[in-house]
Amino acid sequence: MRLKNLSLLLLLAVTLSTLAFAADAESRPSRVDAHLHYVNFMQETNGTRELLEAMDKAGVEKAWIFGLPVIKKWDASAPKRPRYYLGDESPLYYFSGTDDILARDLLSLPAEQRERFAPFISGFNPTDMNAADQVEMLIKRYPGFWQGIGEVLTRHDALTALTAGETPRADHPALMKVYKVAARHKMPVLLHSNLSSLREGEPIFQPELENALKANPDTHFVLAHAGTSESIEALQKPMANLPDILNDLLSRYPNLSVDLSWSVREHYLFEDKDEVDAQWLALIEKFSDRFLIGSDKVGKFTGLDENLDGYAGLLGRRSKEAADRVGRKNALALLPPRGAGSVAVSDDPALAQAEPGE
Ligand SMILES: [Zn+2]
Repeated sequence: MRLKNLSLLLLLAVTLSTLAFAADAESRPSRVDAHLHYVNFMQETNGTRELLEAMDKAGVEKAWIFGLPVIKKWDASAPKRPRYYLGDESPLYYFSGTDDILARDLLSLPAEQRERFAPFISGFNPTDMNAADQVEMLIKRYPGFWQGIGEVLTRHDALTALTAGETPRADHPALMKVYKVAARHKMPVLLHSNLSSLREGEPIFQPELENALKANPDTHFVLAHAGTSESIEALQKPMANLPDILNDLLSRYPNLSVDLSWSVREHYLFEDKDEVDAQWLALIEKFSDRFLIGSDKVGKFTGLDENLDGYAGLLGRRSKEAADRVGRKNALALLPPRGAGSVAVSDDPALAQAEPGE
C-alpha cells in the first residue's frame, strides 16, 4: 500500500515537472544557442542529461556545441591545483581530447536527441601547420558528424599569453589552411579574435581578422562576442565605436556573421537594464540575417534559460520575423546540409565511429 502511494506520488511529481517544462518552453519562442561549450577549462562536463534538460527548459531546439581547445596545466611548482583558467600559477595547453569527449557523448544519444546538436571541431593547435590535416582526420574518424569548426581561440585577453607556445592569430598560416578545409565541407568557423588587446585603445588586431576574411571568401566566419570581451570592457572602453567597426566589416565581408553572446550582451547592448542601445539596435536591424545569439555556457548547463532570456529585451524590440532570424534561423542557415565527410547521413553509431583512413 505504502509502495503504491509512493509510486502515485512519483508519477504525480514526474507529470507536474513535465508540465512545468512544457509551460516554460511554450512561453518562449524557440531558439538556437550558437555558442555552447560542452566542457570547461579542465575538460569536465555535467553531461548530456543536464544539458538536454536545460535546453528543454530554455526552449532551445538546437545548439552549436563544442569542447574547449585548451586545458589548464597543474605545474609541479603550483602548490595546489589551479581552480580557474586565468590563474597565473600555470599555463594552458592545447588538448585534442576535447573533440572525442564531445563525440563520444553525443553519439551515445538516441538519434532524435543527437539531432538537437550541431557539433563543432575545436581541439587543435591553431599555430600548428598540421592543424588542417588533423581536422580532416577527425572528419574521417566520425564521418557525417561534424558541422562546424570552433570556437577557435586566437586573441583572447590574458588567455592568449597564458597558453603555452606560439601566439595564435586569425591570419596564422596554419589557420588559413583550416579555413580552406571548412570551405570544402561548408562548415562555418566560429572565431574568437578580439579586435583589441587589454591595454590598447584601438583595434590593433582588426587587420589580421580582415586578412582571414579577405583571403577566404568561401568560408563563412562568425566573430565570437562581436570581437570584444568582458575584460577589455572592464579595463577600458576602447570599443566605443564597435558598432561602426562591425557595420563596416559586415558591409565589406558577406562571409562574416556576428555572435552576440555574453560580453556583448552584458556590456554593449543594454544602456541600462531594459533599454537597448539605439546604435546597436539599428545595426542589428540593418543586418538582421547576420547576427546570432549564444549562451557561452562552459560544462555546466543549469541557468541556460536565464542566460538566453537576457536577449528578450533585444529580440522583443524586433519584428517577429527579425527576432526569429537572430534568435534561431541565422544559426540554422549557416549549418551544412549534411555533416562533414558524409556520403549519406547515417544514424548508425557503428558507422559514425569508423576507424581513421576508412
Ligand atoms: Zn566561448
